[in-house]
Order: sequence, then structure tokens, then C-alpha cells
Amino acid sequence: MTSIQKAGWNFDNSYARLSGAFYTKQNAAPVRSPELTILNEQLAASLGLDAKALRSSEGTAVFAGNMIPEGAEPLAQAYAGHQFGHFTMLGDGRALLLGEQLTPSGQRFDVQLKGAGATPYSRGGDGRAALGPMLREYIISEAMHGLGIATTRSLAVVTTGEEIIRETMLPGAVLTRIASSHIRVGTFQYIANWGSSEELRMLADYTIQRHYPEIDMDEDRRYLSLLKSVIKRQAGLIAKWQLVGFIHGVMNTDNMAISGETIDYGPCAFMDTYDPTTVFSSIDRQGRYSYGNQPNIGAWNLARFAEALLPLIDDDLNHAIVLAEEAISDFADQFHHNWLNGMRAKLGINTEEEQDEELVQDLLRLMQHSKADYTNTFVALTHNKLEDLPMFGSAEFEQWREQWHARLSRQQGAEAAATQLMRSSNPAIIPRNHRVEEALEAAVKDGDYSVMEQLLNVLANPYEHSPGQAKYSAAPEPSDCTYRTFCGT
Ligand code: AMP
Ligand code: MG
Repeated sequence: MTSIQKAGWNFDNSYARLSGAFYTKQNAAPVRSPELTILNEQLAASLGLDAKALRSSEGTAVFAGNMIPEGAEPLAQAYAGHQFGHFTMLGDGRALLLGEQLTPSGQRFDVQLKGAGATPYSRGGDGRAALGPMLREYIISEAMHGLGIATTRSLAVVTTGEEIIRETMLPGAVLTRIASSHIRVGTFQYIANWGSSEELRMLADYTIQRHYPEIDMDEDRRYLSLLKSVIKRQAGLIAKWQLVGFIHGVMNTDNMAISGETIDYGPCAFMDTYDPTTVFSSIDRQGRYSYGNQPNIGAWNLARFAEALLPLIDDDLNHAIVLAEEAISDFADQFHHNWLNGMRAKLGINTEEEQDEELVQDLLRLMQHSKADYTNTFVALTHNKLEDLPMFGSAEFEQWREQWHARLSRQQGAEAAATQLMRSSNPAIIPRNHRVEEALEAAVKDGDYSVMEQLLNVLANPYEHSPGQAKYSAAPEPSDCTYRTFCGT
């Protein structure tokens, strides 16, 4: 048996069996001299893949797109999307779906090569990706997984031995991304605009079976149920982003996955100082995708999803619109419910009182005024190190603290239980931009992956609250605060 056979690839490509309207089949463009830089061994094992075989030259050749494992049927997926509000035809311009891996426990995951060469959807782009941004996606997506937030995962990054042209010449790389699927809001928009009504129904039925099997396929209103289910998952997902201070950065409808996973890590970052207007993306000049606006944009994107589904929701368009609008209007409540409960947990509160929201809002206001670090404020509250907080000593904070303690004393259970709830709800560490940059610089400039490996190790257990995490939890120096990330790299 060759090592490629030993690797354990076990493809069953249901998406490739759908109508050809959904994709273009094609192989990856081979690269000159691929080298494996990082492999996610735990993820490999959970997929039923053998790390040793993946580390062989044949394994690397698969990750580079130079060799196609048996059973894979590479294709570029077609999709559209609203980019910063403007509707465009997009598609996998630099990614190829190798196929769907069936795991030993019977789960199905897309295996996608990102940076695998030009496709019919490249729109003049080179189809390639640079090493830095692919390693960055690896780090942030794995950090999100560690935080317990639904996300695509990163299996491996290989360098291609080729340089790509951006503002400067950069080393090329291919990221192997694992996802529940890559079906996006934009996939539905694409079919709704350019496909037939049968194809739209086919996509919706396929999506229900793949991601929402609890929906009864014989139910008349199953497409409305699909809409409601997607709304529910996104309300949960975006609440989790807000609770950890994650800013996606480019919440275009093509970057919203129907599965409810966080997808497409471009100009994303975690907020340091608490400020709802925080934006990291250099191209988001209006703040459309700022931290505080993410829930609104989530609802906006879901309304675009609902629009695409309208013909399936009811034969009478007007009635379909009424039903869809009702569903969309629930998003705000669902989001708020998830968010408030998450905030309660961050403060150690395990019951519901009406004034809880005020308590939370008062704290956020204090944090904003005193430019407090978002993550470390909750860490200081968890460990009762209030003197670490910039608002410590102020009369307003003292008043808030008294109200908080009074609130905690009104609930059942020992203080230790509240502390435990806070420890498991407040990450001790997040992937701070300055730490991520440090790891990327060592890897890309010096070929030293040890900094990144260490960072990944601590990010895997963010709720551990161990002394070893202290170095990673420090907020950046003011000089590091003007952090910007760039799209399209
Ligand atoms: P993103 O902003 O990464 O979500 O990408 C938006 C669109 O641009 C998607 O259709 C990508 O496939 C495409 N794209 C991004 N970078 C490239 C590239 N280097 N070559 C071709 N297409 C690209
Ligand atoms: Mg995208």
C-alpha cells in the first residue's frame, strides 16, 4: 500500500452528485515544490486520517493539490454574494473542494484546498494564497474551536515553493480547510438568481438533509423551517462572537455558512480595548462590520437568505414575504437572549432577573469610558483582581461592584459555583493580534514554527486559567493598537 492509501481518505462526494449548475469540476494546478509546514494531528485523527502518512511526501502532495487521493473529485463551488452591500457573482476563485471525508464515526466533512490555483470564478485573480494569511486562518480558526465556537477547522498548511505577487513577492501556500460544508448564504443567492426553481429546491433539500436532519422532509413548510433553523444557529453563533470579542471583519453574505460555522477568516481579529465601533479591516471604512454592528449585519444577511428562499416558502409571494419577515424579526430576540445569558454567565449569574441587562450595560459603559481591555476585565472579575482594572477606585465602579455582589448573593449556590461558571465562560486568553503577528513573523521570515506551535497549545485550552497563560493574556502596548488586517491576500 502506498502512503496515500494508508492515509485513510474515505471520500463520498454528495455535492458533486448535485446538478452541475452548482460547481465546475477541475483539478488543482500543481505547484513546484510543496513542503508541509504544519499539520493538525488531533483533527486528522478525528477525521480518520493517519498523521504519519499525511506527513509523507505523498501526503504533502495531496495538501498541495499535486496528487489527488482516490475517491476525491475536485471542484470549484459556484456562489454569489453581497459584498459590502453590493450583489456580485463570486465562487471559489482560489479554492477547490477535494471531496467529503466520511469519518469513522460517520460524520461528513468538506476537505477544501484554499490557494489551489485559478478557477472559472477567479475574476482575474491568481487563485493563490500567501503563507502568512493561511497560517493566520489556521491560528484563528483553531482558537475559535478552542473557545467552543462553531468554526471551520484547519488541517494543514503547505508552502508551494512558488512566490506570489501582492504588494511585494510573498511565499505561496495552500491551506487545507475542513468544514461541515461550504454552503453559504451566497450559494442560495447564486441559484436563486441564475438557477432554475428545481435547482433551488434541490439545494434546499440537500441542505436540510445535510445540516438540519431534524426537519421533516414531508413537511409542507420545510423551507420556512430551514430559514428558522439557520436564523437560530446564526443568532447563537454571533452571540458567541460578541461574548468573546471576535470581529469577523467581512460578513459578506458569501462568508456566512448555512451550517452555522464561522467561515472565511480574512480581516478578522479579537478586540482588545472595549469599544463597539472597533473595526480592524483596512477596507471597512464605514464600519459596516464593526463589533457592535455584527448582530445587525447578521440579520441583514439572513434577510438576503430569506429572499433567496421566497419561491420555496409559499406559492403566493406576498404570503411568503410575510412568513419570511416574521422569521427574520425573531433573530434580534434570539440573539439578545443568547447574548444576555452568555453575559450573565460571564458575571457568574445563573438565574434570570429583569435588571440583569442594566447591570451588564453599566459594566460595558464603564469599560468603554475607562478604555478597559474586554477579555481581561472579565478575567479580573473572575479572579477577584479588581485592582487590575482601570476603573478600579472610581465611585461608579464601586457602586457597580456592590450591585453585582448583591445580585450574586440573591442566587442559590455557593460562591465557588459562581466562580466556576465565570472561569468556564471567560477565556483567560484569546489570540491577541500582537501574539499572532509574532508567531507569523517567526514562521514566515525565519521558518521557525515553534512560536506558532506554542501559541496554538495555549489557545487550545483558553478556559484553563493556568499561570503559563499569563504571557499570552497581556493586552498590547499602545503602539500595537493600531492593528489593521488586509483583505484579499
Ligand atoms: P474573500 O474576501 O476571501 O471571501 O473572497 C472573496 C472572493 O474573491 C471569493 O470568490 C474568493 O474566491 C475570491 N478570491 C480571493 N482571493 C483570490 C485570488 N487570489 N484569486 C482568485 N480569487 C480570489
Ligand atoms: Mg469568502
